[in-house]
Amino acid sequence: MMLREELDQKAQAVFLGVALGDALGATTEFMTPGEIQSQYKIHKKMRGGGWLGVKPGQVTDDTEMSLAISRAVLAKQGWDRQEVAERFLAWMRSKPIDIGATVRKGIRSYMRDGTLEVPCNDWDAGNGAAMRMAPVILFTLGDDRLLERCTLEQAHLTHNHPLSDAGCITLGRMVQAAMLGADRFQLHAMVRELIAEYPNFKFNNYKGHASGYIVETLQTVFHYFFGTGSFEECLVGVVNQGGDADTTGAIAGMLAGAFYGLDEAPRQWLKKLDSQVRAEIEQSAVKLLDLSPWVAEGSQIQELSGNLWEYHNQGYVVAITTNGKVARSGKNVMARGTARQAADRFPDLPLLLGEKINQFGNHVFDLGQRLVSFPVEHTPWEVPDLQLIRQSGEELRQLVDRNGWEKVVVPRPGCGGGGLSWGDVRPLLSPYFDERFRIIKAPVG
Ligand SMILES: [Mg+2]
Repeated sequence: MMLREELDQKAQAVFLGVALGDALGATTEFMTPGEIQSQYKIHKKMRGGGWLGVKPGQVTDDTEMSLAISRAVLAKQGWDRQEVAERFLAWMRSKPIDIGATVRKGIRSYMRDGTLEVPCNDWDAGNGAAMRMAPVILFTLGDDRLLERCTLEQAHLTHNHPLSDAGCITLGRMVQAAMLGADRFQLHAMVRELIAEYPNFKFNNYKGHASGYIVETLQTVFHYFFGTGSFEECLVGVVNQGGDADTTGAIAGMLAGAFYGLDEAPRQWLKKLDSQVRAEIEQSAVKLLDLSPWVAEGSQIQELSGNLWEYHNQGYVVAITTNGKVARSGKNVMARGTARQAADRFPDLPLLLGEKINQFGNHVFDLGQRLVSFPVEHTPWEVPDLQLIRQSGEELRQLVDRNGWEKVVVPRPGCGGGGLSWGDVRPLLSPYFDERFRIIKAPVG
């Protein structure tokens, strides 16, 4: 499994999801479900048309504003809201096919006096800030505070309302979590958190309103995302609800894209999508991810060379990569690699670890003498388990925090005899390993 490659595809699916939902929904924007049904039965093809008269696969302001933000971030290689405002202005001047009234007002006020934050306004609870979230979501992956800050700064260029703010941030968190593998229960819990604070967003009694009001937009997206089982079904459901169909489509597309991935996006839709837009999105999604803390920090884990036990002598805490197998003798099986070296040096270790595993399960334990276990597999005969390695990284971080340890060295987990590639493992550990942690090449065999 190539983790970075997988994440790249998720990022592309998020951003392409916006364009697909936008292009699909442009056909049914401002129609009622009844009108859509009598005209198309079910609208599920890239057929263009709609009140704007778009070509099949042509996108509108939802995708164009997302690309404007993306270009600003890539040009500055980071966040600069003035640059975002400039790109919005350039886009408005390019005479776009469609532009929302609130968006136009916000960009005009930047043009007039450089306003980067419009005043809070009851009319600003539209979905115009949420529809362009994709690039912010991608380049802030791995840093929730950065997500929050950039979300609010981009939103407030045109929309300043607590419901829009809360909706955008929740959407951002959900899409990021889905990219990293959250299941629908975890995503649903994030919506419940939003509803706990803003009960307006309740969607269990969905009335079928799909307007541009952020509350109704997100209710529509949540209703179809949680009520369907595929990327296609989710988007088809949303755009056949009519109303602000291109924007509900764009938002559903980013969430469903993150959740289902690129392989689930219908080939026919992708083929019809404006090829220039598609190419820019595919490239930008990867470049945005490159700038994200998730990826950047993954390459900053510090590595050591030499012998692991030399560092133990120098006062480092040493993590021993272990499995969860306890033999009938009560000893943990420490037959290979770092575990074997540790057992040779500390003969009491296999029994001590065996007891802990029998009592508490296969976890990270403080074994005394500046040694800790670091589970990478369940038995010595299985291949290492990436999910277990991630969990061990998290547990080790907690143990290090609790004990106030300053120097910890970890052999590349699962990468010696285990056969994993460090490029795949590193991103799993990067959220937990800060400057106190060092990585060393694992012994083979
Ligand atoms: Mg639109």
